[in-house]
Amino acid sequence: MIYLDYAAATPMSNLAINAMSRFLKDDFYNPSAAYLPAKKVRAEYEDAKNTIAHCIGAKGTDIIITSGATEANNLAFSILNDLQAKPKCLILATEHDSVLKVAANYNYELIKVDKTGLIDLKDFRAKLTDDVTLVSVALANNEIGTIQPIAEIATIIRESRLDRLKSGNKMPLFLHSDASQAMNLIDINAARMGVDLLTLNSAKVYGPKGVGALYVSHDVRLKPQIYGGGQENGLRSGTENVAGVIGFAAAFKYAKEHINGNRKKYTDLVKLLQEKLTDNSIIPQFLGNVKHKLANFCTISYPGLDAERLIFKLEEQEIYVSTGAACAASKGQKSQTLTAIGLSDQEINGSLRITLGAQTTKEDIEEFANTLKTIINEEANRIGFKGVDHE
Ligand code: PLP
Repeated sequence: MIYLDYAAATPMSNLAINAMSRFLKDDFYNPSAAYLPAKKVRAEYEDAKNTIAHCIGAKGTDIIITSGATEANNLAFSILNDLQAKPKCLILATEHDSVLKVAANYNYELIKVDKTGLIDLKDFRAKLTDDVTLVSVALANNEIGTIQPIAEIATIIRESRLDRLKSGNKMPLFLHSDASQAMNLIDINAARMGVDLLTLNSAKVYGPKGVGALYVSHDVRLKPQIYGGGQENGLRSGTENVAGVIGFAAAFKYAKEHINGNRKKYTDLVKLLQEKLTDNSIIPQFLGNVKHKLANFCTISYPGLDAERLIFKLEEQEIYVSTGAACAASKGQKSQTLTAIGLSDQEINGSLRITLGAQTTKEDIEEFANTLKTIINEEANRIGFKGVDHE
């Protein structure tokens, strides 16, 4: 079996499993209970939150634990709830559905991206009018891995805040970023990024699924999404997922300590993959930004071929990759990101997302590339396809 869909899900690390197991059985206590063993669990839970927060240069009290990145993204938008009847927000055209769909409840506009998925800063400046209250731009895209210049975006936002102050405009302006895909490869620091809100996802760093966090800068006020016992600063009631948070903390800390090694490993393997795929009569179009891209991403397109068929053929050989975003693909929707970067239907229908991870080896890449090329050539022969010229 060769698994190359780490952007969709990462297997849990032994480190995370081992860290969690005690809290699933022996130390199962409700951290809000008043007796000693429960108080110890509370302390370990808070420690784990501190560990997660330290990974982004923040304090444990700055983060709200959620059920994943979807909930964290939704919670981030609650910042708009008390502001106006229909507050305006700007989101990048390539955002994950959990941002796009929550933004649809507000007055929102899409910021354009270029052909590589990079934010169009000119378009952003033009759309950043005096009535915008929230800007949401993912640190790295989940389909092509393009990394956005968040610090530059934050600088533009700071300038805009100053202009508002000077002109007596009291409308607040916040910056949110979803860092789900970037946590294994980018040394994230919330303050350095200049964000007010930052989404984290345990499921993408070899931690348990169903756990995530939202970093909330100290001067930001959110509205609860879930009401009850008042856990997580009253923003997210419900008995704490202690084991999940312990596993998330162990996994994230490990990921943070291995960023440089990961980057080198994936850069070399993706280079090898690109060389192998280019060594064929039919070569793919490589998508995303060459300079600003997560090192473990290799999204390609064979315009004119049917990626769904390619995936089935690969699956027969126990090789697993994805077409576009896993969730969009499973619903048969057209990929938001690939549409936003201006790909034609043919290019979108022929696209495969290959994402590498901890277990990926050089041998996996060689076998995958050889198998894919055989399949591509068979498919091309079947339909009399000769390939297209890429720019
Ligand atoms: N944001 C991004 C960029 C993602 O890639 C994903 C999952 O693929 C999510 C949000 C949603 O994460 P979850 O399903 O864990 O809530």
